[in-house]
Amino acid sequence: MLRVFQNDLADPDRFVVTLELVPGRESSGRSVEQVRRIAAEAFDDGRISAVSITDNPGGNPALSPDAIGHDIFKLGMDVIVHFTCRDMNRVGMESRALQLAMMGMKNILALTGDYTGRGFCGQGAPVFDLDSVNLISMLGMLNDRLESSGDPDVFYPGCAVSPFKYSEGESFAQYAKLCRKTLAGARFVITQLGYDAKKFRELILIMKHMGLSLPVIGSVYILTPATARLMHSGQVPGAIVSRRIVDDLTGRWKDPTSGREASVEHAARLAAVLKGIGYCGIHIGGVHRSFDMAARLLDRLAEIEGSWRNFIPEFGDSPEDGFYAFPGEEDRDSTNHFGKVKANTGLLDGAGYSILRKLHRTGFRADAPLAPFFRNLCRNFDKKKAGRRLVYLAEDFPKKLLLGCRRCGDCAIEHLAFLCPESGCPKHMRNGACGGSRDGYCEVHDDRLCVWYRAWRRFSSSNETGRMAEGMIPPRMWELDQTSSWLNFHLGRDHHSLKSCMKQGDSCKL
Ligand code: SF4
Repeated sequence: MLRVFQNDLADPDRFVVTLELVPGRESSGRSVEQVRRIAAEAFDDGRISAVSITDNPGGNPALSPDAIGHDIFKLGMDVIVHFTCRDMNRVGMESRALQLAMMGMKNILALTGDYTGRGFCGQGAPVFDLDSVNLISMLGMLNDRLESSGDPDVFYPGCAVSPFKYSEGESFAQYAKLCRKTLAGARFVITQLGYDAKKFRELILIMKHMGLSLPVIGSVYILTPATARLMHSGQVPGAIVSRRIVDDLTGRWKDPTSGREASVEHAARLAAVLKGIGYCGIHIGGVHRSFDMAARLLDRLAEIEGSWRNFIPEFGDSPEDGFYAFPGEEDRDSTNHFGKVKANTGLLDGAGYSILRKLHRTGFRADAPLAPFFRNLCRNFDKKKAGRRLVYLAEDFPKKLLLGCRRCGDCAIEHLAFLCPESGCPKHMRNGACGGSRDGYCEVHDDRLCVWYRAWRRFSSSNETGRMAEGMIPPRMWELDQTSSWLNFHLGRDHHSLKSCMKQGDSCKL
């Protein structure tokens, strides 16, 4: 039982430092030795509360964080295991969680994960059976089991959030999902990567506004010109690096020695700003060869942290017209209208939303006026195979036409303002946006608007954005695949029957 990270986070006088390590694609040899060595150096240094180990970053195969993490854990160094939803279904994920519990590694960073990359003979199948909200909830369920089996050392799940979204809809979608993650049981938050102090501050203020008191750790990455370029070009989903930073680092790295100094200084200044504005720690990334870079960052942080205000102007690159929930220095009132501005959905989209919303209210809610009538009808149709087939066909045509329905049988459109998570989102997110959208567009299909951004626009047109922050939507019930979702809803077989998972009523003030 190693609880260094948890204890350090609970200590109000401690500024927590975690270090992200990226295992390579080998099972032994130089890349493995490098990760082990950096972790051992971090342990000797004594300033790192835990190392976090990535889980197939970029969706490409790499050494399992569980295997290398366990090696490091045995050294006495606490570990945060990144746990994505991309590569395994819920059965595999539960099994993996049990394995981690057995190995004693209970700090989990629950992530949806980047989209699937390339493995053996091409791109892998994207799974995304659960999302990060479901995963956190599953770990909570496992915690009950661990405790009842006599293990007091339970999972300590955390989550990620990206404040670096520059439209109101994407920002709202991120914070609404953070609310759901918290309600599901997240215990700490680590931010995505960005260099905008005002956005970092926005996250702290919005969490206060929502009444969320989770400790927040800010990401600080020691950039090189190559990584800065990669992130600027959008090839690292969710990471935002401005053109100015790329140009500045490229200039400074003409001499690699002073370039390295400049990169460390840049990261140390951001760390000082984060500490100054109230983050409870930093999550250091970009350390690949030796721990020395991280050590120098921390040394420099100790020297300059008192001057953090002077560095704020260096972290202010934002797109023109970028959205801020708190545009002014102390503009707390802006939360009163955050997420409540009516967005323009467009005529067709708005009309489709309005029709589907009315239909839903008339017959597809438990308290809808026509629900008892439909329930009776469904009972009769459900008795015979031909009846079931008839309803299936009647449902199939309009839903395919209007929603691109994939016949999952467990319809979730009401949670996404009547958009389909199966056809509209490559990761099938039922609880909110992943962190990968850019300028409102999907991480995977950059010619398509993110379905959650569209959902926000629709919800905002009917003053219902708060629905995006309510409870937890359970994962799709695969046993209903290729059956009629109308029958399943009216006969109480779909996810609405999982009342304890839905937790409707719980929500944040957003
Ligand atoms: S959520 Fe399922 S049933 Fe509903 S429209 Fe999408 S695929 Fe069809």
